[in-house]
Amino acid sequence: MHLRHVVRTQFVWTRTACISRLQRVCRAERPLCTKGDEVRLAEEASKKYGSPAPTIFSKIIDKRIPADVIYEDEKCLAFRDVNPQAPVHFLVIPRVPIPRISEVNDVDAELLGHLLVVAKNVAQQESLTEGYRVVINDGKHGAQSVYHLHIHVLGGRQMTWPPG
Ligand code: AMP
Repeated sequence: MHLRHVVRTQFVWTRTACISRLQRVCRAERPLCTKGDEVRLAEEASKKYGSPAPTIFSKIIDKRIPADVIYEDEKCLAFRDVNPQAPVHFLVIPRVPIPRISEVNDVDAELLGHLLVVAKNVAQQESLTEGYRVVINDGKHGAQSVYHLHIHVLGGRQMTWPPG
């Protein structure tokens, strides 16, 4: 067998093993769910996290649980969503644990701008040349399930409107 083929097969196997380990860990923390479950999880989370509380995203920041991180700097990181809703679906999160967009203050303006610029740069890195959708869910009606502010970036397929 050609050496390049062996190396590539090894790389694909390692990546697949990593992703399935990540999914196993994340399922234990938060089972993969249906649309109905998403709303229920959001309701439970909004009851549980009225005020800042550590979330699974804090553990990703601290590297206590694995994630498929595709970008990081001193203010934020971007990683692939464990339950992707599009061919490309990643999240951009600040390192500081702001629970939700409705709780940001004027002093957060620069950080929020930075998160959007990172979302755009990573979308470019992911070759989303035909466009993409940027989403921030807030609270119960927004179906937010993790109370650590995050920007969803979804692309690689045609989106529809209105969203569900
Ligand atoms: P939201 O419903 O807007 O709060 O979105 C939370 C998102 O985080 C969902 O799309 C989940 O699939 C995603 N998510 C939850 N846990 C993890 C994790 N451990 N790694 C990556 N994405 C996650």
